[in-house]
Amino acid sequence: MIPTASYAAHTAKAPLAPYHFDRRDPREHDVVIEIEYCGVCHSDLHTVRDEWGKGSYPIVPGHEIVGRVIAVGPGVRKFKPGDLAGVGCMVDSCRECVNCKDDLEQFCMKGAVFTYASRDRHDGSATQGGYSSHIVVDQDFVLHMPENLDLAAAAPLLCAGITTYSPLKHWKVGKGSKVGVVGLGGLGHMALKLAHAFGAQVVQFTTSESKRADALRLGAHDVVLSNDEEQMKQHAGSFDFILDTVSASHDLDVYLRMLKRDGTMALVGVPEKPTPLAAGALIFGRRSLAGSLIGGIAETQEMLDFCGKHGIVSDIEKIRIQDINEAYERMLKSDVKYRFVIDMASLKAAAA
Ligand code: NAP
Ligand code: ZN
Ligand code: ZN
Repeated sequence: MIPTASYAAHTAKAPLAPYHFDRRDPREHDVVIEIEYCGVCHSDLHTVRDEWGKGSYPIVPGHEIVGRVIAVGPGVRKFKPGDLAGVGCMVDSCRECVNCKDDLEQFCMKGAVFTYASRDRHDGSATQGGYSSHIVVDQDFVLHMPENLDLAAAAPLLCAGITTYSPLKHWKVGKGSKVGVVGLGGLGHMALKLAHAFGAQVVQFTTSESKRADALRLGAHDVVLSNDEEQMKQHAGSFDFILDTVSASHDLDVYLRMLKRDGTMALVGVPEKPTPLAAGALIFGRRSLAGSLIGGIAETQEMLDFCGKHGIVSDIEKIRIQDINEAYERMLKSDVKYRFVIDMASLKAAAA
């Protein structure tokens, strides 16, 4: 067993607190990673506060995990001790269903095994995430991190990066497309950087006037304050694609009306409550409303390689694990520029 230090939520209402548990010894195809950094995704907060209703406590959140391999099982060929490694939102899937065979393990028909708040396929134990000192993961779900990127700033690529890269690719965003990004948080700022790198014209929608200058710096051609009707009107009916990253309930119709004929808006944000929708916003203009969930492992590696090649990382604020509860409160106020990343060295300091 591998003694593991972590921070966990013990109930939906309690702040995260130190928690010690054992990780399994590596199975034949497992990689043991000593975690150096872990990004803080809004999904961590939704999950530990039971907003999606699948909590089985304690929960150690965290699915933007980077570190070094310290041991491998006897059948591991893809990694060796000393290698940089990343783990995102999934740690396993059935590997046999049509979606797994199509490299879309996130849609595994038997249910992908998520990095935390899920069940291991072999022993039924609860999976626990990256706010921890170590993690043990099957080699097929471990990613190679580009050596040239700042490791802490690359951690958010494992969720925020792939969750925005995948829909931009799926809906063929590139030169000549006009793309809207709704919400400038962790996912939103990666969507902005990636859509810009793909050569699209990008407009950032935000509720925070204070983020205007940052949005332009991050690659937006225009920034629209979404509660300013005049600014909104200027872009009505002009977008090929809109990616909505907002974490709280909000009006979808206003953004659907921004789409061109046959345009698509994809939701990646997962608000706690359902959102009403006016059919007219879809009918007039034959528009589509879609959703997208992270990305498969092969596409995640493709995204990491793309980011390595183009020097794309997240804009981060490093925090100590002891500051995680305060970071959650700031995230709820949209006060993050643009991703918190936990320096796991602080976990050792806490234990000393
Ligand atoms: P985040 O960093 O908190 O960003 C969310 C942004 O949404 C905020 O910065 C804010 O941007 C905007 N916002 C927040 N509350 C709002 C409100 N009431 N009305 C309008 N805008 C609001 O969160 P994140 O980590 O990027 O995650 C975003 C969402 O995606 C979460 O629901 C998360 O669970 C989900 N997610 C989904 C997937 C997937 O695979 N589909 C993967 C990861 C995360 P402005 O200040 O610019 O308005
Ligand atoms: Zn996430
Ligand atoms: Zn499957």
